[in-house]
Amino acid sequence: MKYYKLAIDGPAGAGKSSVAKMVARRLHYTYIDTGAMYRAITYKAMKLNLDLADPNQFGFLDETEMKFIDGILYLDGKNITVPIRSNEVNNNVSVVASHVPVRNKLVSLQQMIAKNSNVVMDGRDIGTIVLPDADLKIYMSATVEERARRRHEENRTLGIKSDYQALIEEIKRRDLFDSSRNYNPLRKAEDAVFLDTSKMDINEVADKIYEMFMDILKTKRSE
Ligand code: C5P
Repeated sequence: MKYYKLAIDGPAGAGKSSVAKMVARRLHYTYIDTGAMYRAITYKAMKLNLDLADPNQFGFLDETEMKFIDGILYLDGKNITVPIRSNEVNNNVSVVASHVPVRNKLVSLQQMIAKNSNVVMDGRDIGTIVLPDADLKIYMSATVEERARRRHEENRTLGIKSDYQALIEEIKRRDLFDSSRNYNPLRKAEDAVFLDTSKMDINEVADKIYEMFMDILKTKRSE
């Protein structure tokens, strides 16, 4: 059976997860938030008091269970949606995500999930590394100010303490780190469609992606 894949990449706060979630729901596809997976590993490593800068500290990944149920990530059986959005995790996740053993482990897990289901997956390296054969690749971005504003709203909805100016600085720092790391950096795949969403409403973005994807499916199914 052929499974279909929609890849959405972009920098922090571009609105990828909200859009990906909406499109997945409309398509009845599985939504995979790969950022949540890197956050969950960071959260667990912090709980274990490990040296986050040391790539050799992540052997615990072999005994770690990560499962998505209805778009929500469960880490070792627990819903960790709120704690993985904390400032401590925000400030440490990019270092953890730059480690080769961490990336190799999570990329293969993400590829395994996509092998057995129709997926909408969002992250930084989905179109380039995780799903290079995705049926549609989107690269979403927006101005730093707009992205910080969206994160600020999202935090408030989740009941997380939030400071707009601090978010701007954090997002800039994370963008720089994610796009300049050596291994699997954040970058637009050559065949990805670029969407500047600064002036677009999240519903508009979701509609646009959904329509593009449906057109591709129609063509592929009639081949
Ligand atoms: O998307 P989100 O902001 O939750 O991602 C958190 C962090 O996880 C990113 O800043 C990046 O360092 C890392 N990440 C990654 N590759 C992915 C998804 C996220 O390196 N595919």
